[in-house]
Amino acid sequence: MKRKTALVTGSTSGIGLGIATRFAEQGMNVILNGFGDAREIESLRTGFASKHGIEARYDAADLSRQDQIEAMMAKALREFGAVDILVNNAGIQHVAPVEEFPVDKWNAIIAINLTASFHTIRLALPAMKAKQWGRIINIASAHALVASPFKSAYVAAKHGIAGLTKTVALEAAEHGITMNAICPGYVWTPLVQKQIPDTAKARGITEEQVINDVLLHAQPTKKFVQIDEVAALAAFLASDAAASITGGILPIEGGWTAQ
Ligand code: NAD
Repeated sequence: MKRKTALVTGSTSGIGLGIATRFAEQGMNVILNGFGDAREIESLRTGFASKHGIEARYDAADLSRQDQIEAMMAKALREFGAVDILVNNAGIQHVAPVEEFPVDKWNAIIAINLTASFHTIRLALPAMKAKQWGRIINIASAHALVASPFKSAYVAAKHGIAGLTKTVALEAAEHGITMNAICPGYVWTPLVQKQIPDTAKARGITEEQVINDVLLHAQPTKKFVQIDEVAALAAFLASDAAASITGGILPIEGGWTAQ
């Protein structure tokens, strides 16, 4: 995978950071994206470049903004010629009953968790087609397959990503390009930690009950999925060995959706 270029959206934290780290270790050039402390992000970027001898870049694009996504993709294509591996990972969550769901939160979740991927995909595909090689990996969720109450926007966006994945996989299949959705169960990241107080409020239970009776209850393994496990699946999908896996909606959720 040396000298291939990977763009991982939302890679300053959690799952995206795990995937970007794995790709850098494999010798890919990596473009980081996401919010966070500027000094920490810069030391992450320089660490990637010096430890692994790769080109590591950072783009601060806000993925709720079409103009900023377009600028990020144009810069990546100008500097690297193609985004060989595109990982649509950036995401946010909000937990509330639908009749109380803040309209601005609905709009932000649909923009970041769904529409941003439409933009990155449509802008990445021409260069992938020119090279007759590409990998698009969408970090969806078990919530692309099943619902939970109080997560209407998130579940709608993630089901949407599943549909987008299948559609574009068909359009790109004859060009050496695969597109799959990884569907993790609960992974212990800031996104999950931040939703615990609101879930406790919406369900009228304690935060400890949220962890044991809602989150871990969903997963027969009774364990959180590990970031490294998701990164390993992404690395496999990015490899040549996964050339025939496309249009897949792939659960990695401790058996949640088998029930
Ligand atoms: P996280 O909060 O640790 O990371 C989210 C990343 O997205 C951060 O880098 C953040 O800066 C970035 N981001 C948020 N809004 C952005 C914006 N407007 N523009 C650019 N970047 C933005 O969360 P995570 O748990 O690692 O989530 C990553 C993905 O995995 C999300 O799509 C999430 O839905 C999905 N997922 C997470 C879990 C889980 O249990 N943690 C389960 C299933 C799916």
